[in-house]
Amino acid sequence: MMDNIFKKILMRTLKIKHGLPVLLNKVDFVMFPARAMAKMVQKVGEDLGETYLNRLGYDAGLMVAKEFVESLNWVEKGLALRIKSIFTMFEVMGFGKIDLKLWDTKESRILLHLINHPVIIYGIKLFGKRERICSFYMGIFSAHAHYELKVNGCNLIETQCISRGAPYCEWSYNYFKKTGEKKKKKKSR
Ligand SMILES: [Zn+2]
Repeated sequence: MMDNIFKKILMRTLKIKHGLPVLLNKVDFVMFPARAMAKMVQKVGEDLGETYLNRLGYDAGLMVAKEFVESLNWVEKGLALRIKSIFTMFEVMGFGKIDLKLWDTKESRILLHLINHPVIIYGIKLFGKRERICSFYMGIFSAHAHYELKVNGCNLIETQCISRGAPYCEWSYNYFKKTGEKKKKKKSR
């Protein structure tokens, strides 16, 4: 009996529109968790500030990164070869598509472009330029870059953002300017 009631509720709330499941006639069901996540992250950012949000992301990211390293028997050797499959895994898990432009463990530098992040996309849909969601994910990615990709002390900054009309979010560490240094990293004459 319970099954039938559930089925009825489900049929009333969930419909297929253009081949996609749609909740309550308006919300893309596949994107529903991303939408809920976007709202929650935005709220935390608005109430407690971006620095807090970034830190929260970092702590959460570090927790997951440690889990990854343990359960996947992560070894630094051969990482360069596996990086593509790792990023594909991230993409499948809903962390967007990463285009790694620079990755330098010796100098502790990284530059990446990010697109198709479901939560960020929903954040922009809901909050436009006011979205704070990138800060959260930059924290998460920083932790992964530090712990798994060995970009020591990684603390990503955003120089371009989809929410401001850029084709991707551009995140980097020690690329445009060495942290703690006043002068630019570019070749000095
Ligand atoms: Zn962004």
